[in-house]
Amino acid sequence: MIRFDSVNKYYGDFHVLQNINLEINKGEVVVVIGPSGSGKSTMLRCINRLETISDGELIVNGVKVNDKKTNINELRRNIGMVFQHFNLYPHKTVLQNITLAPTMALNQSKEEAEKTARYYLEKVGIPDKVNSYPSQLSGGQQQRVAIARGLAMKPEIMLFDEPTSALDPEMIGEVLDVMKALAKEGMTMVVVTHEMGFAKEVADRIIFMDHGQILEQGKPADFYANPKEERARLFLSRVL
Ligand code: ADP
Ligand code: MG
Repeated sequence: MIRFDSVNKYYGDFHVLQNINLEINKGEVVVVIGPSGSGKSTMLRCINRLETISDGELIVNGVKVNDKKTNINELRRNIGMVFQHFNLYPHKTVLQNITLAPTMALNQSKEEAEKTARYYLEKVGIPDKVNSYPSQLSGGQQQRVAIARGLAMKPEIMLFDEPTSALDPEMIGEVLDVMKALAKEGMTMVVVTHEMGFAKEVADRIIFMDHGQILEQGKPADFYANPKEERARLFLSRVL
């Protein structure tokens, strides 16, 4: 579903992604961890071309992401992304936030888009919030709306960039529960998170990044119990 082949990326002279090789299969749940500034967000953002790569090849769902002929809108339609800060439109209701892209980008009728929106709001556990504005919701609820909004496009891949980092502790669980359910339904997911419980329960693989490189990867149980790289060990001792 996603393949990085010797991918490098520079910001000016700064080598932010260094020879990334990574294959993610359909239905796989991959958790990416690593110190701040190690390139996790940049790697994620390359997948839907919010960032371009400098060299190498990146193929997503059979499409060369950086090929001139690639239709970026079509690529992005297939990839949902959830950010640390929920990025909801503050002056639109929950329903409007979720139906905007399906009506604009997929040409769905208002009725169809609203039906889909209600379905996903039910799924993330806040069907009663359809007519609320983001400011009337808790952080956990806003993030669940953001997830519903991503799902309403019926993507094949969901990217999550530290989706619970901005939440109060008591709201982290409700968002992780939604993500766990999604993972168990077979969604292909790439998740930057330091939530070990989530990783252990649903991740097929952990990727440890440092200084723009993938230093180590493995099954969660193996990786957390016995990281091989010294830097991974040090990192885990600090965050857990
Ligand atoms: P992480 O998500 O692991 O914290 P990032 O991918 O956000 O790391 O950033 C990796 C490095 O690239 C950091 O040193 C950051 O300062 C730098 N960086 C990120 N975005 C840009 C940019 N647009 N221009 C220049 N440097 C950037
Ligand atoms: Mg980041």
